Amino acid sequence: MSFATCLNCIDGRTHLPLINWIRDKYKVEFVDLITEPGMIELLACGFQANSSLITKVQLSLEKHQPKLIIAAGHYDCAGCSKNNLEHKKDIDRAVANIMQLFPGIPVSGVWINDTWTVEEIISP
Ligand SMILES: [Zn+2]
Repeated sequence: MSFATCLNCIDGRTHLPLINWIRDKYKVEFVDLITEPGMIELLACGFQANSSLITKVQLSLEKHQPKLIIAAGHYDCAGCSKNNLEHKKDIDRAVANIMQLFPGIPVSGVWINDTWTVEEIISP
């Protein structure tokens, strides 16, 4: 079995396009999905202090040995206090923070746009 670990928003419009894209692009069978409203903003600012979120990621890494971690943000996010442009820019910081906390695993940063298509902003 092969896995990826995905950190995404709760938004139901994003899940299927994102999971399908990850499975196709990275040739994994399963995607562990960890969700919080406005996940990218959380990852970009204050992720290190969120022990509950870190525990969830650690569990996925330890139990499923994923090929990579994907951090996802999306258009029209209700859980994000910033506009789409600023939100998209936060993907850089989110990926950098994940790499710092979980060294040794590739990290991809993606944006799901207004047609619900996945754009990879940062390749692993
Ligand atoms: Zn959202």
